[in-house]
Amino acid sequence: MPSFQTSPGTRDILPPQAGRWRALSDIFADIVQSAGYECIIPPMFEDLGVFLRIGDATDIVTKEMYDFVDKGDRHIALRPEQTAGVCRAFAQHRPVTPWKVWYSGPNFRYEKPQAGRYRQFDQVGVEVLGSDDALLDAEVISLAWQFFARLGLVGVELVVNSLGEADERAAYIEALRAHLESHRGELSEESVATLSRNPLRVLDSKRRQDASVIASAPRISAHLSVASSSHFAAVLAGLDALGVPYRVDEMLVRGLDYYRRTTFEFVSLSLDGSQNAVGGGGRYDGLVEDLGGPATGGVGFAIGVDRTLLACDAEGVFDAGSLALDAFVVDVTDGLAATRLAEALRAAGYSTDRAFDGRSMKSQMKAADRSGAAMAVIVGPDEAASSTCTVRNLATSEQVSVPQSGLVAHVAAALGPRTPRRNPQ
Ligand code: AMP
Repeated sequence: MPSFQTSPGTRDILPPQAGRWRALSDIFADIVQSAGYECIIPPMFEDLGVFLRIGDATDIVTKEMYDFVDKGDRHIALRPEQTAGVCRAFAQHRPVTPWKVWYSGPNFRYEKPQAGRYRQFDQVGVEVLGSDDALLDAEVISLAWQFFARLGLVGVELVVNSLGEADERAAYIEALRAHLESHRGELSEESVATLSRNPLRVLDSKRRQDASVIASAPRISAHLSVASSSHFAAVLAGLDALGVPYRVDEMLVRGLDYYRRTTFEFVSLSLDGSQNAVGGGGRYDGLVEDLGGPATGGVGFAIGVDRTLLACDAEGVFDAGSLALDAFVVDVTDGLAATRLAEALRAAGYSTDRAFDGRSMKSQMKAADRSGAAMAVIVGPDEAASSTCTVRNLATSEQVSVPQSGLVAHVAAALGPRTPRRNPQ
């Protein structure tokens, strides 16, 4: 046993899985950049106060924050999500609106580790600040939808709801609290505890004992103003126009306190019930103001990368492909021929690896096979003497002798053109 293992709730993402993460993030970037979103990289830690705005009734704030006092006596927290940091950045830099940004990176929550729930997990997401337009909500939602579709996922369901403006939501919470209080005796112990902290979260309970009290609970739609109802209707019309299928669920409240009006969640039907949300988001119109900025509309989502990949595994889509090398150079002379030839191929844009440590021909050929390269470039004493190399197609085992000076042209003819590396001037 080595002295150290990964800390609970964290994992090493090893190759080839790590390549799959990169590929996922690249696909996400491709989709959102085509809609005019630009990349933002917020810091991984901020003043604790930034994250307290997520809401003091949320588990994220009360139980899960990785916070500490640094050597300069600042109360710092590792980011548990990125929306609050992006809003802080907006309030600090006041960019031109609408400000459309996307991000990709890790977040930290002190949760009970289990499959699909980690203490360090990755999200990709978008935020748009400075617009109130319901059609923007529809655009944002459709980007997440397109992303799941591009990965090949078919079992993802979009659930939408509106929580109304802050005062409508507050009135609803009071009506809900009164209902739940009057049925306190019928609720599970856990829900009674949740009720005193955050009645909305009782609606999330999947416990059978709570089902009938929840089923008879007041509905948010009865508390929405005309303006909020028509905003929600416009979001749904936008989704219809974009061909994005959805289900309206008035019980969808989500775990963060800052949501106003539109909220949504993407649920994977192929994942286990308690950890099946692969992404979610909504409007958070008051958040920038809470962080000291001007009153600003905001809408966005975050998609959990870890869980999305679990959903891909469950559906058998978006495989982790290994790095496909073009060539592997085998050199059983002095090794310098491999140095020169590998460099020439790499400079011409062909991904190339080679062996080190003066290994035997047999061992180097094994490494070439294991590398998955399309071809092996072999230099033995005979080739070295004649400044040639043997190029072996590793799939068909066909091989030809090629002058070392003509290797790049030969590989180009076999594999097609690549973009040469640009060397510094
Ligand atoms: P949230 O910021 O809580 O709305 O989460 C957005 C998405 O991030 C969820 O739908 C999950 O896919 C993912 N997520 C949240 N917390 C975790 C966690 N502890 N481990 C893995 N994924 C998570």
